[in-house]
Amino acid sequence: EQAEIGLIGLGVMGSNLSLNIAEKGNKIAVFNRTAEVTRKFHAEAGALQNQIVPCETLEEFVAAIRPPRPIIIMIKAGDPVDQQMEHLKPYLSAGDIMIDAGNANFRDTMRRFDNLKDSGLTFIGMGVSGGEEGARHGPSIMVGGTEESWKRVEKVLTSISAKFNGEPCVAWLGENGAGHFVKTIHNGIEYADMQMIAEIYGILRDGLGMSASEIGNVFGRWNTGRLNSYLIEISEKVLKANDPITGKPMVDVIVDRAGQKGTGKWSVIEAQNMGVAATAIEAAVAGRILSSQREERVAAERIFGLPKAERPKDGMAFLADLENALLAAKIGAYAQGFAVMAAASAEYNWNLPMPTIARIWRAGCIIRSQFLDEITSAFTKDPHVANLIVTPAFSKMVKETDGALRRVVSYAALSGLPVPALSSALSYFDAYRRSRGTANLTQAQRDFFGAHGFDRLDGVDKHHGPWGSGLEEFA
Ligand code: NDP
Repeated sequence: EQAEIGLIGLGVMGSNLSLNIAEKGNKIAVFNRTAEVTRKFHAEAGALQNQIVPCETLEEFVAAIRPPRPIIIMIKAGDPVDQQMEHLKPYLSAGDIMIDAGNANFRDTMRRFDNLKDSGLTFIGMGVSGGEEGARHGPSIMVGGTEESWKRVEKVLTSISAKFNGEPCVAWLGENGAGHFVKTIHNGIEYADMQMIAEIYGILRDGLGMSASEIGNVFGRWNTGRLNSYLIEISEKVLKANDPITGKPMVDVIVDRAGQKGTGKWSVIEAQNMGVAATAIEAAVAGRILSSQREERVAAERIFGLPKAERPKDGMAFLADLENALLAAKIGAYAQGFAVMAAASAEYNWNLPMPTIARIWRAGCIIRSQFLDEITSAFTKDPHVANLIVTPAFSKMVKETDGALRRVVSYAALSGLPVPALSSALSYFDAYRRSRGTANLTQAQRDFFGAHGFDRLDGVDKHHGPWGSGLEEFA
């Protein structure tokens, strides 16, 4: 009996995904650049050994899979994927499907898709979220490619995906780069969500003077309420863990410098390219950049010192404000992420199904939460709404919580505590809901120095101001 699917790349993600595939009753052929890794993986597969065909040459690997062959490539993103595809190509036949399951830039996915068009081979760009644990027991899977190629892999992918109340967290989202684009924005939202949680942690630590474990308790309580989510859940666990070496809270000995691999930055770049304001995600990426400039921050604190943070008068009320502020800001960040996807959907003709995207993020992925179930309902009722914020369910939530966000951002500003993501979400909301903004002045300036013209509120057909040409001065 031939394998139902093949997988190349037995690193952290690939090995766990392979075990998951095998465990769900699918026979799988596996290959890794370094053959020793393949041997070891098979030797340690225990009861699943019979479901796994370890292969040491690509020829043997391809022959082991039932045509048309779906082959998952789960290796280091970038050039290695192109190299691996080139090595694999000579062994494949028409109809075979190469599936890049790494964190690819969707532009690379579009290019790879196009490059294979005339070869008779097809390509799927597949976003996989959930880290190591998700890969092993059920990730959220975002698929982009032809519908026909999706049909070939639907059964296997459905069997291995996470389930939310029994519903599989996998879907075909559209042609070519759709899956990897949605995964990128998932990660962009993840950046914003994590940054906002960290900002709240900063207020609790530096404003309220709470210890790591006390803050862990606060997050633990919040996890039973409207903020219930994987990220809040792990924040509690992380904050309550102690360092085995010093016995101190683990977070207190970790350097405050965050790494990044690019998906947050790509989200921001694509948002900007399409003219969508994704300020909370931008703030989160900028937050990580500033975090990495640790030496400069240390030097600047020597020059400026730190403002004294006054303790809020009513601690309990302020804790409630922090919970609501996080919810309000989170709504802004998710609204922005979905707005970026809506713009991309139009730009690339993907016809992205917003309710489905929210649905497959409810379990398996890093941003999984109760909240995403509410987003699913909101988009199911109104799939083409301009912005999540104005749906009935979310506008109600914003009305209940924006006051708290305002108080928290004010407190942080007065106390010198940085809240770039929380404050940008607040400003985004304030700009979005104000019918009369201030760009009339910007537009007048642009007309003054560049004769760019403006529209009039009264519709009168006169598009330049009484400031002469304004240009002589610069001639
Ligand atoms: P690992 O570092 O654990 O594994 C890397 C794998 O890539 C190894 O199998 C390695 O083979 C292979 N590889 C590297 N370079 C080449 C090459 N030039 N040709 C062939 N094979 C190569 O990576 P991960 O499993 O963590 O990540 C894999 C992909 O999944 C990445 O795109 C990552 O961004 C993405 N991802 C990771 C997540 C995570 O939580 N770790 C979550 C979601 C996506 P060898 O053994 O021979 O070195």
